[in-house]
Amino acid sequence: MAWFKRVRKPIAPPPEKAARVPEGLWVKCPGCQDAIYNKDLAGNLRVCPRCSHHFRMGATERLRSLFDGAWEEHDRGLRSTDPLKFTDTKPYAERLRTGLELTGQRDAVVTASGQIDGMDVIVAAMEYAFIGGSMGVVVGEKIARAIERAIDRRVPVVTVSCSGGARMMEGTLSLMQMAKVSVALSRLDRARLPFISVLTDPTTGGVTASFAMLGDLNIGEPKALIGFAGPRVIEQTIRQTLPEGFQRSEFLVEHGMLDMVVDRRELKGVIAEALRFMGASGPAAPVAGA
Ligand SMILES: [Zn+2]
Repeated sequence: MAWFKRVRKPIAPPPEKAARVPEGLWVKCPGCQDAIYNKDLAGNLRVCPRCSHHFRMGATERLRSLFDGAWEEHDRGLRSTDPLKFTDTKPYAERLRTGLELTGQRDAVVTASGQIDGMDVIVAAMEYAFIGGSMGVVVGEKIARAIERAIDRRVPVVTVSCSGGARMMEGTLSLMQMAKVSVALSRLDRARLPFISVLTDPTTGGVTASFAMLGDLNIGEPKALIGFAGPRVIEQTIRQTLPEGFQRSEFLVEHGMLDMVVDRRELKGVIAEALRFMGASGPAAPVAGA
């Protein structure tokens, strides 16, 4: 017989008060600390209307902001085979599944062909919400294929980076993507086709160290963190205090690492102008010997 049996029902917890503001309706801007109505943010290319802070943008939204209308996505079905059967705090396979659930994408880049201001262009936009936009075999392969497709069709390439670098869960295979994409870009160069690289917050590690810095024109978004190693690692290595604003777009333009900083709301226009300057026009005629 249980002596301490609870006879009466336990006191019910108070009913949860319905939040007056549904979650996700307002966003606090890290730039000006103001609350912004999420719809206003979406309607302004995710740039704060008050202080121009650039929020991170997903790959699909990015494509929508650049292309004139509909686009054709390539290699959507490619997915990682988890070649090392890697596990850290959780299995890599699980991280891949979570990435798919979060973004609807099978890996951290979306490649597509469409038109920018009437010109045929192939764009590769990275998705940070998928394992930090890291570059593994699938990202490398999709970008390399996008470049090869651009060479076949004789159209320019635009990449929009947003990445923490190489994907450690695929070990050295991730590092090989740096070489693979760079080789494809050198073929694009030999075919005399333009390549514009847009670097957004953040672009670091193996992505900076390969294709993101290889553009004929390298454009940074305002105040984007762009670098190879993080500031703490560099300070410890060179034993010097780093200057203010180090590794931000504006600093990198001043020091010759980037060509220009462009507000996202003007990005499409600047890309179109640059592509025209570099000789892109409507569907280009095939060039003999290319
Ligand atoms: Zn703001």
